[in-house]
Amino acid sequence: MRVFFYAKIVCYNISIMDLPMVLLLAAVVIIFHPFIFLWYGEHQKVKKLLQIAQLGLPQEGMVPADEVTKAVEAKQREIQAKELALNLANKRLDKLDTAKFEFVSVTTHQLRTPLSAIKWTFDMLAKGELGPVTDEQKMFAQKGYESTDRAIEIVNELLKIDSIQEGKDTRANYNFANVDLAELINSVLFLFANQVKARNIELIFNKPNTSLVAQVDPKRLHVVFENLLDNAVKYTKLGGRVTVTLSDAKLNSARSVAEVTVSDTGIGIPSGEQTKIFQRFFRSSNAVKLVTDGNGLGLAIVKDIVDNHQGEIWFESKENEGTTFHLTLPLQQAPLQINQS
Ligand code: ADP
Repeated sequence: MRVFFYAKIVCYNISIMDLPMVLLLAAVVIIFHPFIFLWYGEHQKVKKLLQIAQLGLPQEGMVPADEVTKAVEAKQREIQAKELALNLANKRLDKLDTAKFEFVSVTTHQLRTPLSAIKWTFDMLAKGELGPVTDEQKMFAQKGYESTDRAIEIVNELLKIDSIQEGKDTRANYNFANVDLAELINSVLFLFANQVKARNIELIFNKPNTSLVAQVDPKRLHVVFENLLDNAVKYTKLGGRVTVTLSDAKLNSARSVAEVTVSDTGIGIPSGEQTKIFQRFFRSSNAVKLVTDGNGLGLAIVKDIVDNHQGEIWFESKENEGTTFHLTLPLQQAPLQINQS
């Protein structure tokens, strides 16, 4: 009913309109409708393209893409230039390092011979082998002998550190032999007898009933024990105690090793500085105050020698209480039973 009612209104409205106008309107619609559709379709397409383009266009506060690419390329060029400069600086440093060690090596080698000549001349003077000398002259000659000896020691230390740095002092250069470790340690302890007596330090050596024989380079191992003992005595105040213990405690483990500990009741190593102890030239703050003429090379040499023996070295220390250095050396043979008879 309602459809019929609307149709009636339309027909009534047309009837009151001008008929030619209606026909003209219909003709216009018929003729132009494809263009209208075409325009609408194209309009939609253009709208879409504009939206897509707008996504790529810089929005407010955004840097355009080509500018970003340019900035990235510029940074990459900058990084490459810096890398190049760093490589050049590294090469220059390497060259300087080599030159420095060559210099140290040449001078120390050249100094050793004349220093030895001076040392033995002082010795001959002091002993009166070059003619009679007064007591005062003898005393001065003796002082000259001792000072030259000390200078030779420094030169030798520099030579040792030079070889280590150059990687020349490798295992291949070592002269290994079967060595009774207790005997070797005893020979080192003997060197400290006067010093510990003068400083009222108690020196104890605990050794096992069996002799522990290890295949080591005796001269280099002598240097190891000398350095560890020198430090223990040097950094222990008057009336303290230094204990050396040799044991085969780890003999039943997979690896047969001898363990040596050098323990003291000395100044200790501050906990914050303990990681640097094996670094060349490092001296802890409290050691510098107590003993002014150390060089911080001894433990670096010790570590190198122990490594070359395929051993291990570590320590524990408490400031103002003392330090214990532990050292293990592989045992090549089963411990020999000491003949008790
Ligand atoms: P140096 O004794 O000539 O300084 P070392 O290389 O032998 O050089 O030792 C490095 C540093 O390690 C020492 O300066 C000292 O700070 C610390 N150190 C080594 N042994 C001991 C010890 N037994 N007690 C306390 N500090 C020690």
